[in-house]
Amino acid sequence: MNVLLIGSGGREHALAWKISQSPELETLYCAPGNAGIANCAQIVALDVSNHAAVIEFCKSNDIGLVVVGPEAPLVAGLVDDLEAEEIPAFGPTAGAAQLEGSKGFTKDLCAEFNIPTAAYKRFSNARNAKDYLDKTGIPVVIKADGLAAGKGVVTAEDRQQAEQAIDDCFEGAFGEAGSEVVVEAFLEGEEASLFALCDGQTALMLGTAQDHKRVGDGDTGPNTGGMGAYSPAPVMTQEMIDRTMTEIIVPTLAGMHARGMPFKGILYAGLMLTDNGPELIEYNVRFGDPECQVLMPRLKSDLLSLMLASAQGTLLEHEAEWSDKTALTVVLASKGYPGSYEKNTLIKGVADAEQAGALVFHAGTAMAEGQLVATGGRVLNVTCLADSVTEAQKAAYSAVDQFQWENGFCRRDIGWRAIARENG
Ligand code: AMP
Repeated sequence: MNVLLIGSGGREHALAWKISQSPELETLYCAPGNAGIANCAQIVALDVSNHAAVIEFCKSNDIGLVVVGPEAPLVAGLVDDLEAEEIPAFGPTAGAAQLEGSKGFTKDLCAEFNIPTAAYKRFSNARNAKDYLDKTGIPVVIKADGLAAGKGVVTAEDRQQAEQAIDDCFEGAFGEAGSEVVVEAFLEGEEASLFALCDGQTALMLGTAQDHKRVGDGDTGPNTGGMGAYSPAPVMTQEMIDRTMTEIIVPTLAGMHARGMPFKGILYAGLMLTDNGPELIEYNVRFGDPECQVLMPRLKSDLLSLMLASAQGTLLEHEAEWSDKTALTVVLASKGYPGSYEKNTLIKGVADAEQAGALVFHAGTAMAEGQLVATGGRVLNVTCLADSVTEAQKAAYSAVDQFQWENGFCRRDIGWRAIARENG
């Protein structure tokens, strides 16, 4: 089978690496891809926002499955348009992608189907949102309803900050995404993620992970797309996994089915493990980046067969086999990220890191005159497998130390929380 993979991040390199091992695969194409993906897929110059062009490419290249990595094409309805042309696609329709695309949609679904989540209210004007602050207390969480590239959430520590966040949303700080605002109660606990593969009716637990969003050691500094992750998350005990599946994932699938928009693809639950058990913070409708980079190396089963089963609604006949080992990934980023940074800086040492036992998944990279250069903020993901988080971290940092990249940096403490627990 020929497969078209859409995306260009570390997540898509990890997917390309895994799909390219499938016995079912003939040719893997990727648009737009990156320098690492080019080693396991044929890169194609396709404008992914031009759905007609994607459809045309699929027809002329006999594509049997389109795998959509990032959320934007899902929310834009790429899967709907492909399915209308009878081209199988992995990922949700635009209706089902509202689970990520609209926080208000997800909160209403939780309320209707008794899914544990923070108390909330939706608002379309600032005055009513501010009045509601009388009832919520402080801290309180203010969220732009729509997709805001991870920036539309403010945890306000006082009333003034909360009112400012509400004004920012309605005054257009997040564009259309802020035309509606969700105000919700602050949840206390430890955060973790659970990934489930879904086919509209059935959910298959894939794995758990924890990531590090802040740029600096000790989880300090501004938020980023993610500076590292590990899987499984030791805090997600079997009891927590079972409760998350029964109380959150299964009712979500049932609710989406009842609403006439069955969910297919990856349901990625961002959870808060509170004293009352797991509560839903948010859904994403695709793999996380960098969480995908720690899930794929642990998956023993054929990813392509699982993705096809998700697209075709036959997941009940499938199981996924996983390695017991822990995977940990450290993100190497351009100095200055998540602010501005220099582009086209020279990177050396990928082969040495691989030699040291790491998988190196590329994000913002390109080849220039035969040399690897950094073209983005997050650039490489250095991933190692070991028997514990402590050992996986040690292996990942000794591979990281093989790089010569003057303009790069990474956090030095990925996994600290789990390591403290292991050595506890
Ligand atoms: P979201 O985009 O909804 O995942 O929110 C981004 C981050 O804000 C989450 O990963 C949490 O760290 C934090 N957050 C969101 N909602 C809440 C909440 N109700 N209580 C505490 N923290 C939250």
